[in-house]
Amino acid sequence: MTLRERLTQVVSGPARNLVEERIRTVVVDVLHDQDLVSSGEVEALRRRFQELEQRTATLEQRIATLEHHAEETAHALAEARSRDARPAVSSTPAKSADGAVCQVPGCGGVYRSKGFCSPHYQRWRRGTLPGFVRTDGTVPDGARRWKVGVEHAGSPVEVTGPEDARVVLVRGKPVPARAV
Ligand SMILES: [Zn+2]
Repeated sequence: MTLRERLTQVVSGPARNLVEERIRTVVVDVLHDQDLVSSGEVEALRRRFQELEQRTATLEQRIATLEHHAEETAHALAEARSRDARPAVSSTPAKSADGAVCQVPGCGGVYRSKGFCSPHYQRWRRGTLPGFVRTDGTVPDGARRWKVGVEHAGSPVEVTGPEDARVVLVRGKPVPARAV
């Protein structure tokens, strides 16, 4: 390989990016001084350098733009993934096939039985769900208990009034109650 071929390869090959404009100028000047190339060839080389520089700058610009887009896309994907990972918050309560929901205020769970969702039905069965007539038709009231009848079992209930004149309200209406 001749010196000219080697130099041409260096300045037009992959290594061109590492070659500074001044060095290239020196290279072509040296080539010219040593009459290894004609001035026409030197000019052609110079033009070729300029073209390559132009193309490199354009490519660098495009790569930067692509990198920017890639970052934006990755960011959007990460956001979308964290959104999907979050549990879906339903604006309306879950309902059974016939649309019934649990009667416990604020629950909205799928209806199971006696007006309750499964967890509240279990609590009601165990007698640990306040605010509803128990399975045996009684209502706890502090140290006392009121019997209102098993026909009211599972109904929302409230005990109000002064200590010596308590009123038992089933579904908001006073019902006969006896202490047990
Ligand atoms: Zn419930």
